[in-house]
Amino acid sequence: MNEIKRELLYKGKAKDVYKTDNDDEVLIKFRDDITALDGGKKDTLSKKGAYNALISSKLFSVLEDNGVDTQFLNLVNVDEMLTKSLDMIPLEVICRNIAAGSLLKKYPFEKNQELVPPIIQFDYKNDEFHDPMLNDSIIIALGIATQDDLDNIRTITLKINEVLSNFLKERGLLLVDFKLEFGFDKDSNIVLGDEISPDTTRLWDADTLDNFDKDIYRKGEDGVVDAYKKVVNIVLTSEEKDKWNVDNI
Ligand code: UDP
Repeated sequence: MNEIKRELLYKGKAKDVYKTDNDDEVLIKFRDDITALDGGKKDTLSKKGAYNALISSKLFSVLEDNGVDTQFLNLVNVDEMLTKSLDMIPLEVICRNIAAGSLLKKYPFEKNQELVPPIIQFDYKNDEFHDPMLNDSIIIALGIATQDDLDNIRTITLKINEVLSNFLKERGLLLVDFKLEFGFDKDSNIVLGDEISPDTTRLWDADTLDNFDKDIYRKGEDGVVDAYKKVVNIVLTSEEKDKWNVDNI
């Protein structure tokens, strides 16, 4: 166990954020809690936190290697990421390559329709208002971000989509859709924060279209943690799996 001085700053639905003795850094602990349906369905699934921390840190490292600025600094324990402290923007930036989930409920897309170019959508991260979808005018009027910020976020999101879609496709997975959160660092740069894991993406087997993500839990099916473990095994190198002793988490 790598011990860092900590004080709880914020408890989210599946992660805790701790202050450290360095004001520029926060520690993010991935808990085993899982929620869906606007908080209406909740469970605790052993090992889920560790698997999501391993997947997120790997995908953030891949993004950093490809020139995308992320909050990620280091995985300090198997379920704890040390990160740059960010002033978070309350937006859920959703990017979609294939029509699934709420898009099919709200609009007349065909199931599994390919979306070229990808759809980028902004939802307001606000439980009281149930995360409504926003547009640029509403975001600017609410003072959440400027037009320049939004243009910048769209450009970074498309780059992230390209890098991660390619990385996952080479490993037999389709990146169907995903949610990102951004924040400002101390120099006012827009930086990717939060997590990218099977809790926040739809990942399908490229051949069978079986899913390896939170949809398993949303549908009330078994095997969600086994699916997350498969993603860990797909994205990590054998050295990384040995380092974190993945088979014995
Ligand atoms: N998503 C998320 N958090 C949210 C809403 C959506 O991480 O609060 C992710 C979700 O896992 C999926 C993508 O964003 O990968 C698009 O989700 P969608 O709008 O289809 O909503 P859902 O069907 O998940 O309710």
